Amino acid sequence: MSGLIYDVAIIGAGPAGLAAGLYAARARLDAVIFEKLGEGGQIAITNEIENYPGAPANSSGPSLSGRMAEQAREFGAKIIRDDIVDVELEGCTKKLTGKSGVYSAKTVIIANGGKAKPIGCPGETELVGKGVSYCATCDAGFFSDLEVFVIGGGDAAVEEAIYLTKFARKVTIVHRRDELRAAKSIRDKAFANEKLAFLWDTVVEEISGDGMVESITFKNVKTNEITTHNADEEDGTFGIFPFIGFEPVSGLYKGKVEMDPAGYIITDDNMKTNVQGVFAAGDIRVKSLRQVVTAAADGAIAAVQAEKYIEGH
Ligand code: NAP
Repeated sequence: MSGLIYDVAIIGAGPAGLAAGLYAARARLDAVIFEKLGEGGQIAITNEIENYPGAPANSSGPSLSGRMAEQAREFGAKIIRDDIVDVELEGCTKKLTGKSGVYSAKTVIIANGGKAKPIGCPGETELVGKGVSYCATCDAGFFSDLEVFVIGGGDAAVEEAIYLTKFARKVTIVHRRDELRAAKSIRDKAFANEKLAFLWDTVVEEISGDGMVESITFKNVKTNEITTHNADEEDGTFGIFPFIGFEPVSGLYKGKVEMDPAGYIITDDNMKTNVQGVFAAGDIRVKSLRQVVTAAADGAIAAVQAEKYIEGH
C-alpha cells in the first residue's frame, strides 16, 4: 500500500461513479474511480441512449459513457482498472483492497450499480443488444412494429410489457406459472390491453440468431412440450426482454453498510449511508427510478457531500 490517501475513492465507473468523479475532481479533490471491467456500467451494453437530456441523437451507450469518463479524466479524476474485493469502511481512513493493490481514502462513494438477472439459457449473452434487452425504457423504440417477448411475471415484467405495447406490434408475456406475481392493479391493466398475449407455464430454453435474434425456444413446464418461435420473414427479428428480477451488486458491503432485504444500500437524500464518510450513488441504492440521469445526479450529490464531509474533518 502506498502512503497516498485519496480524498474520494469511487467504486464503479458507471454514470453514477463517473459523475461523482467529475464533481469531485472539479472540486479539486484527489479522486480515484475503480472499475473492474470497462467504463460505463449498464449503459455500456445499451445500444442507444435516447432519454439522457442533451445526449446527441443516435448516441450509443458506450459513446456516452466514454465521453463521461473522458470528462472526469480531463478534470483530474484518476480511473484505475482494479476489482475491489474487500473494503474497510469504518474510521477516518477507509481501506480498499483490490486484486492489484490496496488503497486508502478519506471518503468512499459506492457506485457498483446492479444487474438484471439473466435467464441463463444458451444464446442469451451473445445476443444482448442484438434483440435481447434488459431495459424497456432504453430500447423499446428499436422494436417499433415488431414482435416482443417479455420473460417474467412480476411487477417489472408486466409494467414493462405494458410500456412495450406502445411500440411493438404484439407483446407476449412468457411466465413460468399460470398466474402473474404482479400486483392486481398492474395485472388488471395488462389483461385489458389488447396488444398483450400470455404464454403460461413456459420457460425459455434457448435463444438463437446470426447477429440478431431470429428464434426462441420454449418449454412448457407442465407438458414438457418444446416449441420454437421464428422471426416473421419480413421482420427478420424480434425482441426479448427478460425481467426476472434485478439485483444490486452489493455483496461486498454486506454487514458493512445498511441495506434493505433485497441488498440495495439505504441512503438519505444526500447519498449518505449509515457509515460516516461513506456514500452510495446510482442503481445500487434504494430509489424509485433507475436511469442514467438519476445515477448521474446521485453521483454529483455524493461528491459534493464527500467534499463537505472532508471539510468538516
Ligand atoms: P420479482 O417480483 O422478483 O419477479 C420476478 C418474476 O420473474 C416472477 O414472476 C418470477 O416467477 C419470474 N422468475 C424469476 N426467476 C425466473 C427464472 N429463472 N425463469 C423464469 N422466470 C423467473 O422481480 P421484479 O418484477 O423485477 O420486481 C422486483 C421488486 O421491485 C419487487 O419487489 C417489485 O414489487 C418491485 N417493483 C415494483 C414496481 C411497481 O410497484 N410499480 C415495478 C417494478 C418492480 P414466479 O412468479 O414464479 O416467482
